[in-house]
Amino acid sequence: MIPMVDLKGQYLAIKDEIDAGLLQALEKTQFILGPNVQAFERETAEYLGAEHAIGVASGTDALHLGLIAAGIRPGDEVITTPFTFIATAEAIRYVGATPIFVDIDPATFNIDLAKAEAAITERTRALLPVHLFGQPVDMQAVGALAEKHGLSVVEDCAQSFGAAVGQRKTGTLGAVGAFSFFPSKNLGGFGDGGLVTTNSAAMAEHLRVLRNHGSWKQYHHSEIGFNSRLDELQAVILRAKLKHIDRYNDSRRRVAHRYTSALKEMADVTPPHEDGIGRHVYHQYTLLSERRDEIMQALRGNDIACAVYYPIPLHQQEVFAEACRGVELPVAESVSAQCLSLPIFPEMTDEQVDTVIGVIRETVA
Ligand SMILES: *Cc1c(COP(=O)(O)O)cnc(C)c1O
Repeated sequence: MIPMVDLKGQYLAIKDEIDAGLLQALEKTQFILGPNVQAFERETAEYLGAEHAIGVASGTDALHLGLIAAGIRPGDEVITTPFTFIATAEAIRYVGATPIFVDIDPATFNIDLAKAEAAITERTRALLPVHLFGQPVDMQAVGALAEKHGLSVVEDCAQSFGAAVGQRKTGTLGAVGAFSFFPSKNLGGFGDGGLVTTNSAAMAEHLRVLRNHGSWKQYHHSEIGFNSRLDELQAVILRAKLKHIDRYNDSRRRVAHRYTSALKEMADVTPPHEDGIGRHVYHQYTLLSERRDEIMQALRGNDIACAVYYPIPLHQQEVFAEACRGVELPVAESVSAQCLSLPIFPEMTDEQVDTVIGVIRETVA
């Protein structure tokens, strides 16, 4: 049996440290915005090279509060990708803005910036690129586009913790970055969690108020905020894993490159393309094949997990049926029909990778 991720293996490897930290936090009983949350915010800000990092309750909340902090309001349009998890677009709707979906690049699966530029109207306020599957969007190009048209940039970094463009990590390239610590993410907790990064002191202050009931001082409320704090126990776990994140991401790249060197020789299979603009951290390893369903069946028949991320692009989701009537995004539609994500996790052995490769080779031969 080869799973998509091995959360238990990752836990057991650093169990002593996590268990000791959890016990200590239980004894201390400072459960809300306690010392581990504060330390984790400092440590992640330093790791990412961001001026400020604000822990929140989930990646979805990180996007939501990030959009509020970036000043996105009802009636605004936010340009984003249809080939992402629903939360990207949900957050845009939470602030009363309208997601404008534009097609993706067929090689990287990331937003096509030429199409993004063509979709800009006088109501456009922000670009919301997603570093999908861990591959950074060309943020220099995003920045130039944003500057040319006076737009804000909110980065969805839920899948790209540790990915970088040059020396700069994702989450530090736009006005705000939103991270998720959902258990299966590159840096994953034992429950929900999220983080917003920014280099703006004013936005950071606003985000701290927003996540804590609009409160800048206990029982003083300056606006309607949210109950969206990173949990103290999650912060313990995340601090322990943060120390190993580079090793985890290196290991994901090892697995990916082993897959790619074998898959690129096979007919009917297109391995994921690394565009070299940034450092890809392979949250997912996603191939394309017209024989996707056949491969999927063969893998499952051999007790190997696999998954389709994402089977329905957002403009074709029921929830956006009315808003997106008549919208056609052929690249996203064709990628959705052909994509297949293989198991990838830091603990995966070369033997396991070779087993997956062997089943695919037999299927497409
Ligand atoms: C996981 C994910 C989110 C949402 O994060 P949660 O922590 O689950 O709320 C948002 N965007 C993308 C691209 C994601 O993969």
